[in-house]
Amino acid sequence: MVQEITEFSENVSDEKLETDLEKYLVLAKELGATDAVRISTDFIIMDERVRAKCYSPRCPYYGTNLNCPPHFDWDLEQTIKIISKYEYGVFIMLQVPPEEQTGKNYDSAKHSIPGARKMYEIVAKVQSAAFYDGYPLALGFAGGPSCKRVFCSAVDCKGIKGEGCRMALKSNPTMHGAGMDAYSMAAKMGWKIYPIGKTTDSSQIAHGLELGLVLI
Ligand code: SF4
Repeated sequence: MVQEITEFSENVSDEKLETDLEKYLVLAKELGATDAVRISTDFIIMDERVRAKCYSPRCPYYGTNLNCPPHFDWDLEQTIKIISKYEYGVFIMLQVPPEEQTGKNYDSAKHSIPGARKMYEIVAKVQSAAFYDGYPLALGFAGGPSCKRVFCSAVDCKGIKGEGCRMALKSNPTMHGAGMDAYSMAAKMGWKIYPIGKTTDSSQIAHGLELGLVLI
């Protein structure tokens, strides 16, 4: 169905905002999210230690794409300032089978991660819907691995060569790449989340989680 586009207004009524936020929760679930919850931006937990984990131990995707440090270069202070300009967010969660997020070959392109791709797509679609609804500054953050792992694991990033992102309408920075403590936010929401590392066996956890956020 073609989305109706209405004239942009700098003043959005509380009624319209309420209706639209509800609509985005429904949309995220229709697109496959396990849950989606409206949050106040006060709910977002920022912590410089999250970004420190991009650097130590050095993430294999560090420097490989536009959406991870150092190319994605908003510092924590700047990101907090940006978030403070928004009032609400749509916090999105997708449960995935444990096998999808475990195993020594997790970083291999042969290891399939459809849930991560789906979360990027849900975030991009909610962000796009909000844009056309009159929130041109709607801002999305995917979760899980970087866009390099999800979309371009077998090819070089065109973005860092200055040739434009191959997935410009689907890729976004990750919540953790921006310094958001997505683990703590999920736990605070009551969503069960498990620490998953190289040695985690799929039998040890009930499920994996993909998380995403769209600021409205
Ligand atoms: S081209 Fe691929 S790796 Fe580079 S920013 Fe876009 S999606 Fe990410």
